[in-house]
Amino acid sequence: MQTTEDLIYRAAKAIKQSNFAVAFTGAGISVESGIPPFRGEGGLWNKYDPKILDIDYFYTHSGRSWAAIKEIFYDHFGQKKPNKGHEVLAKWETSGLLRSVITQNIDNLHQEAGSQHVIEFHGNSQRLVCVHCDSIFETSSADLTDLPPRCVSCGGLLKPDFIFFGEAIPMLAYEQAAEAGKKCDLMLIIGASGEVSPANKIPQKAADHGAFVIEINRDQSLYTPKVTSLFLQGKAGEILPAIDAILQQII
Ligand code: NAD
Repeated sequence: MQTTEDLIYRAAKAIKQSNFAVAFTGAGISVESGIPPFRGEGGLWNKYDPKILDIDYFYTHSGRSWAAIKEIFYDHFGQKKPNKGHEVLAKWETSGLLRSVITQNIDNLHQEAGSQHVIEFHGNSQRLVCVHCDSIFETSSADLTDLPPRCVSCGGLLKPDFIFFGEAIPMLAYEQAAEAGKKCDLMLIIGASGEVSPANKIPQKAADHGAFVIEINRDQSLYTPKVTSLFLQGKAGEILPAIDAILQQII
């Protein structure tokens, strides 16, 4: 039986030998930054009603929806910083080991850690979009004391520029993620359950095209029996630095 050290060594070797590696991340990579996932232990849906992110509810109850959104995504998430997992991925991109990060997350932590090629599959909370005139604003420039916030150009309702339940995935992000999934010869799936569709089609695409799939997760996921070639059980903020330490020795 292989030890965790053996598996970490195999993962490092595979990353080193790959020609086109991409990472695919879910809420799990940000847990060690203090941002809870939606589902499971400590998940946001144990405290909040998921309807606050339903697009029809948002349009009909904008004030109520915005009050919860502000509390979760801006008062709480907004204070959080990238962790070692985000930092290692940014470092691998700089050193040419990783082409891009496809993320389901909306917390902007990959970008804050220094990742340049981030495919935002579900959008980004650090932007607001006017639902009337499509103007985009930095969230930090908006006044969130009087809710719901309004567009300074046309007075229209502002919405976080991330996907609500009932909305389609941004076309460009889907195309870029699908393309990366087809092209990569190695995919790292980090902290993603596989329960969110259509995001879960991307790792499947990579596996269908023959990519070696390394999965890092606290627990087995829906991906584990289907697409994973090498499973590393543990926290992303510990496993990624451990792989990086081995890479330093074998590079
Ligand atoms: P998810 O698909 O993102 O799954 C979270 C996964 O992370 C689970 O499989 C869990 O076992 C794993 N995990 C938890 N802690 C971990 C750790 N320290 N290291 C490695 N793995 C760990 O599921 P979700 O939370 O239901 O999210 C649904 C959607 O909402 C996703 O698109 C997700 O990205 C998004 N979301 C984003 C954020 C964020 O931006 N940080 C937070 C919550 C949810």
